Amino acid sequence: MDEKAFAATDDYTKPKYYALVEFPYPSGQGLHVGHPRPYTALDIVARKRRLQGYNVLYPMGWDAFGLPTENYAIKNHIHPKIVTKNNVARFKNQLQSLGYSFDWDREINTTDPNYYHWTQWIFLKLYKAGLAYKSEMPVNWCTSCKVGLANEEVVNGVCERCGSPVVRKMKSQWMLKITEYADKLIDGLDSVDYVEKVKVSQRNWIGRSNGAEVDFSIAGADDSFASIQHARILYLV
Ligand SMILES: [Zn+2]
Repeated sequence: MDEKAFAATDDYTKPKYYALVEFPYPSGQGLHVGHPRPYTALDIVARKRRLQGYNVLYPMGWDAFGLPTENYAIKNHIHPKIVTKNNVARFKNQLQSLGYSFDWDREINTTDPNYYHWTQWIFLKLYKAGLAYKSEMPVNWCTSCKVGLANEEVVNGVCERCGSPVVRKMKSQWMLKITEYADKLIDGLDSVDYVEKVKVSQRNWIGRSNGAEVDFSIAGADDSFASIQHARILYLV
């Protein structure tokens, strides 16, 4: 690591290769097996590209804002900044023991004011463009964690993290108008180099819908083609 053997350089004579994995949330438990799996796969690719003469950027960082940290900090009366710092140190130590070829010079942490300064900047841009707005919406509310949960975080009607009952609750919350880009996202899938199953899952997730057309014949009316009364309904879903 001291030798900076895996640091990307500003050498523009070499072809560039950017390998990016999802940054982990540094929990108190340390790495789980789901972390090394994608890191190892991409580490192999990054090393191969370096051997092929590419200037490789393979960064690592910490997606460190999180409810478990907040709850742990409240319960144990430790400042969340200290909890996060300790968890990051543990994760980093574990990743380095595994010998990954990350460029540690580019390490980022989402709880670092120098980093979230830019997420706030982007949010204001979205807000001014009318793409971030407040709305009263029903949310999945964990009765114990006291936060709204994503649908994916509700498993069999209970909170995935703590197992407490989840109720529907009306809350005023910030929304991002991602639907504004649904068509663009779907059309863009035709021109990217993704494996087909990822494209299919993206299409299903975004879910373009142009509605449906249904013809109803009226009961009691003559059966001949000319007399069928068409009640045509176009609905959008
Ligand atoms: Zn919970």
